[in-house]
Amino acid sequence: MGRKVIIGQLEHETNTFNTCPTELVNFANRLYFTGEDILLSMSNRQLSTTGFIDVAKEYGWDVIPSVAAAANPGGKVSKEAWDILAGGILDAVRNTSDLDGICLGLHGAMVTEDHDDAEGALISQIREIVGPDVPIAVTLDLHGNISDEMCQQTNIVVSYKTYPHVDMRQCGRRAARLLEEAMSGKIKPRCTIVRRPLLVGANNGRTTEGQMVDLLACAEEMMQEPGVLDISINAGFTMADTPYIGPSVTVTGDGKSPRYVEIGEELMDRIWQLRDEFSMKPIPAEDAINFAKNRQYDGKPLVISDYSDNPGSGAYGDATNLLKAMIDANLEDAAFGAFCDKELASDLCSEGVGKYVTCVLGGKNGSAIGGGALAVSGLVVSTGDGKYIGDAPMSTGNLGPCAVLRVEGIDILIISFRQQVVDLQMFTSNGINLLEKKTIVVKSKQHFRAAFDPVASEVIFSESFGLASQDVTARVYRKVRRPIYPLDK
Ligand SMILES: [Zn+2]
Repeated sequence: MGRKVIIGQLEHETNTFNTCPTELVNFANRLYFTGEDILLSMSNRQLSTTGFIDVAKEYGWDVIPSVAAAANPGGKVSKEAWDILAGGILDAVRNTSDLDGICLGLHGAMVTEDHDDAEGALISQIREIVGPDVPIAVTLDLHGNISDEMCQQTNIVVSYKTYPHVDMRQCGRRAARLLEEAMSGKIKPRCTIVRRPLLVGANNGRTTEGQMVDLLACAEEMMQEPGVLDISINAGFTMADTPYIGPSVTVTGDGKSPRYVEIGEELMDRIWQLRDEFSMKPIPAEDAINFAKNRQYDGKPLVISDYSDNPGSGAYGDATNLLKAMIDANLEDAAFGAFCDKELASDLCSEGVGKYVTCVLGGKNGSAIGGGALAVSGLVVSTGDGKYIGDAPMSTGNLGPCAVLRVEGIDILIISFRQQVVDLQMFTSNGINLLEKKTIVVKSKQHFRAAFDPVASEVIFSESFGLASQDVTARVYRKVRRPIYPLDK
């Protein structure tokens, strides 16, 4: 028999300013497997759990699959969902004797109704059961707000090193290989974390441009030093009002060495120095639409990111400021999406293709943030079940029942399951030919780029003051540690 290793995944990026709780059904809609189904369903995906499975096969581990669950970003995870999902992982830990190791795919910015630091709470409970000697390896999203507690209780921490996150499976493999070395006694890994009084920084984790490119190159070099097993640069997630908010560097090293702290300090110093450097410079909605309207069409679409209503940052996905600007400007040959409104999607599906309808978009989450209720009239040009096979590395997916409403020259994709745009197929599978559009507006901040950059003439960012606006002074933080930049100068 090989080494006995529990694998599991529990991921959620929690926007604590979003008032809609994240329930079990939100996990079920995105990813939720238990027991052997994890091995059956996740052996060929691009997720960290798949990386764990790859390495388990390589070393002939006796794998105990526990729970694998992920939900789209949103409000705090409900107590009920947490009890079932975290409870499933804890049960596996409790019920396994002679356990050799644990591999978990976590996010790092998960908040529940009861825990501001959900990952820290989960790992601490696991540690309490298994004692100090069983190595624990975790992968994290580079947007995690990572706590001291989590780092103290975890031996191996490997965060994604790409955004868009296209290296999740590789990071899973990396963490699992280090776990194998730890279980075999070759290394004694432990994790060190360093941060600054910073609420936001590291260019929000964009790895395609700016400071992260240099930071990652530097970290890669430092990883060649003796004993250094992994260096992860975490940009943090600003939409979570918790004490551990903000950028951090974690260093997983073999044994203890002051050098691991030095490495963290060196990298965090650079992040601190560049704290005001952000490559994304959003322009007002009206300016973005004016630019679209007056642009010389070169055969390729202009892509506008409605970044502040990005469901990928836990925004509602139903802000209307930018859409209103498009309608007011009589923009032609345009697509807009994905607008999330379950009831409306269902109504339009019942109305059916070919019906001319008048309806209200937005303003249904008890807030007009980013633009509230907007009355429109248009033609239903497509309806569907929302299931699609993506052509980008990030996705296959399910939008839930959905419809396309054509308002003047704008095709609006209306979906049921709130999510950011990551793939052209989200539109094209619903009959919107993006390559014929002159302007495409996406509710996504960065993940759309893997799929959209290759077809876009240009990508610009628009500020419509949705829930996920990068203007941190627009939100009231109560739990963050103080002083912290830029709230305190
Ligand atoms: Zn992320």
